[in-house]
Amino acid sequence: MILLSTDKMKAAMLHGVKDLRVENVDKPRVGDGEILVKVKAATTCGTDLKILQRGYVSGVIKLPTVFGHEWAGDIAEVGKGVSYFEKGMRIRGGNSSPCLRCYMCQKGKFNLCEDMMWLWGAYAEYIKVPQRIVMLNTQVIPDHLSYEEAAITEPLACVLHGIEEAGVKLGDSVAIIGAGPIGLLHLLTVRRMGAGKVIISDTIDERLKIAQKLGADETINAKQEDTVERTKKLTQGYGADVVIEAIGMPTTWEQALRMVRKGGTVLEFGGCPPETEIKVSTEQLHYGETTVMGAFHTTPAHFKKALNLIASGTINVKPLITNRMKLDDIKQAFETLTTSKTDIKIAVLP
Ligand SMILES: [Zn+2]
Ligand SMILES: [Zn+2]
Repeated sequence: MILLSTDKMKAAMLHGVKDLRVENVDKPRVGDGEILVKVKAATTCGTDLKILQRGYVSGVIKLPTVFGHEWAGDIAEVGKGVSYFEKGMRIRGGNSSPCLRCYMCQKGKFNLCEDMMWLWGAYAEYIKVPQRIVMLNTQVIPDHLSYEEAAITEPLACVLHGIEEAGVKLGDSVAIIGAGPIGLLHLLTVRRMGAGKVIISDTIDERLKIAQKLGADETINAKQEDTVERTKKLTQGYGADVVIEAIGMPTTWEQALRMVRKGGTVLEFGGCPPETEIKVSTEQLHYGETTVMGAFHTTPAHFKKALNLIASGTINVKPLITNRMKLDDIKQAFETLTTSKTDIKIAVLP
């Protein structure tokens, strides 16, 4: 009986769309090069919510599966051959690791690796970190940093990657569509990068208020105002230097194109449902010289940079954690995220 209980752990298992169950599952066994981590905090993410509600992202996740991908914790066990990491260390780990061998990796596009290793299982008492992630995408957390803040390294790493690709420069006007966790992380980051005017739009006033507190110069409630017109007005009629879509809907992807100035950049950041399309005017690309780009995931270097920015206080992610819940109440946590107007990210504590 005692033996059985130590071999088992609590974990949230995703069985299908809207079917998430907290179950007693086998505690992972650590192999060579791997580490087992006692999860101390996991944070909810828009991606998890999308997968739970819409059930896509094929290739990235296979059902049934352990779930959740933003986490930090204490090392409980270390496999043979692991150097540097020791039992008891406070760490965070990424949810991916590139292969370093494929064509994309050799080109330095690690986020587009053809053989990416993905790691799920943050909503659990323990998570096993595979060798490749131990090697390339695991870091020790400084003592002063909380586990929940460290868990936010993952979305910030994605945001840093996108913003770097988009080339946000000192003094740029930046318009962000969406004041959810990802939109707000973009806001915090471009603010730090010396953006000039930062405009953010959403349909929920409460979120816009949070955006204001986090440094937005102008907020637009898209239900009450024409976002495109207002953005133009706020930029002397030109449109923003950089527009960032942080929702993931084809309509807002297209809206972003109407908010950018000539020669400006549109970063389509939010992932849309599969098989959707948008229309882009050839004239805008030719005469308007608009740069339209997507951004997917991130790289180990960005994970490291994100953790450092959080740890140094350069990017303060604390205000994004608006609620804390027990692992047993994970379903409630996602319910809350869909209904609450003020909750941004919930820390799930085992
Ligand atoms: Zn995430
Ligand atoms: Zn690769």
